[in-house]
Amino acid sequence: YKIFLLALISRLMSILGKCKASNNSIVPYEFMSLDIVSKLRADHDALKEASSDFGNLIQNPPAAVLYPSSINDIIELVKFSHNCSTPFTIAAKGRGHSARGQAMAQNGVVIEMSSLNNNNDNNRIKVSWDPSIGFYADVGGEQLWIDVLKKTVEQGVAPVSWTDYLYLTVGGTLSNAGISGQTFRYGPQIFNVYEMDVITGKGELMTCSHHVNSELFFGVLGGLGQFGIITRARIALREAPTRVKWMRMIYDDFSAFTKDQEHLISMENGMDYVEGSLILHQQGSANNWRSSFFTPLDQSRIASLSSKFGILYSLEVVKYYDDAKVHTIDMEIEVLLEGMKFVAGLKFKREVSYIDFLNRVRSGELELQSKGEWEVPHPWLNLFVPKSSIMDFNAGVFLDIIHRQNKPSGPILVYPTSRKMFDERMSAVIPEGEEEIFYCVGLLHSSSDEDLDSQNNEILEYCNKFGLKIKQYLPHYKTKQEWKDHFGPNWKTFQERKALFDPKMILSPGQMIFTPNS
Ligand code: FAD
Repeated sequence: YKIFLLALISRLMSILGKCKASNNSIVPYEFMSLDIVSKLRADHDALKEASSDFGNLIQNPPAAVLYPSSINDIIELVKFSHNCSTPFTIAAKGRGHSARGQAMAQNGVVIEMSSLNNNNDNNRIKVSWDPSIGFYADVGGEQLWIDVLKKTVEQGVAPVSWTDYLYLTVGGTLSNAGISGQTFRYGPQIFNVYEMDVITGKGELMTCSHHVNSELFFGVLGGLGQFGIITRARIALREAPTRVKWMRMIYDDFSAFTKDQEHLISMENGMDYVEGSLILHQQGSANNWRSSFFTPLDQSRIASLSSKFGILYSLEVVKYYDDAKVHTIDMEIEVLLEGMKFVAGLKFKREVSYIDFLNRVRSGELELQSKGEWEVPHPWLNLFVPKSSIMDFNAGVFLDIIHRQNKPSGPILVYPTSRKMFDERMSAVIPEGEEEIFYCVGLLHSSSDEDLDSQNNEILEYCNKFGLKIKQYLPHYKTKQEWKDHFGPNWKTFQERKALFDPKMILSPGQMIFTPNS
């Protein structure tokens, strides 16, 4: 153990040894209690794990990895760096499900947040009730949404807003937005948070909400990890639905497909979830790992149509209901779908449990994992496209670039959502302007042998050339100017918040927004 500790300290010396206190004296290692040093690792396995992510495109080894067993361990580490005259960078890592190194800290320290949950007894997910807000859950930032779901439904309640995939952390999705087909109705996950505990870049633990430390609260929501480390979030809950009608309709016409999607999201008491995706003839089922929905017979019917059109569009909707509606729900859905222009006969229906619906992506993941196809590169490109540009986007990107190039890619999602569900005080970036509806487009590429980044660049160039005012979701940029353009009028506020809460630019360096000398 002593030899290991010495090796660790000597490795840390090379990075952190440069760390000097403000009076320029070397910071003694005793500054960090032995307790925290024993939770730092710099061995090959720890560094390897922390220097890769889901994207499998970038490798940036940190100097060390912290496995905290308490919030205090994180506070101590951040304070230590903040008090150095040459601070080292720190990245909270949720599940590392980012695609481009966003949760890495080259030569800094990665905090493996899951280690806060080491005893795995879910005591960091607590359901409570308050007369003014109803049910809510206090949830550790390291918690996976799947565990939040399991724990809350035990008590008959559940969060209102989800991502399509649940093996993501609360801190990770709140640092982005957390979107899916429920966003149009309930808002993104960042819209459903009452309060948070956050450790700022100065190492201060602050509780924040709409009214208390609100600048930090709104900054952190969609803030790409720049202002603090979320250690607890208070999440809105509602009664958990018990039954789910899950449907897909196939379109051969993009205009009809998007009009119907927009119609569905405009209804008062309509669907609970609306998404959509492309079906590319040449790509077959590899494209559909996100959920096993169609039977083999359905698949062959769709395949024969897509061989005719080359590209089809699948509209996906869900209606939640309970036992009292068992006999009336089908009629209710028929009314909601009245007048919709999908291809006659190509409407498919399934009945699943609430948990199975929300966890629908998991089986596809496990299948790909078993074939070794989950760990391939994922050069994802996620975009928000204003409604007024979506037809041009279809013509230039789906029909031309993607269909023409015919590269094996992965699922391609396209569904509308509503601007009014994004509080403009939050850091999350959506298209500028007043247009109420914008589309979420997810090009969820996975490929080990295709240069899909050049296709991504072509798509971005097309949008730029033809003036499509898109914004990237889960953004990735390399230069300060690109980040300024991304944030647009909100860049000033973003910068001011950084100066306020992380003045030494310690946190989440993998986003490549700020560097200490910028
Ligand atoms: P990480 O990748 O570990 O971290 C992401 C960023 O947040 C990093 O900058 C990190 O430093 C920071 N961070 C992590 N934890 C904290 C914390 N506690 N406090 C402050 N900052 C923190 N997104 C959607 O919105 N909707 C979807 O439907 C969706 N589906 C997905 C499906 C798959 C298969 C995958 C791989 C990703 C999907 N995503 C989706 C993207 C996902 O939201 C991001 O990957 C997100 O970063 C969450 O991943 P994570 O929890 O592993 O965070």
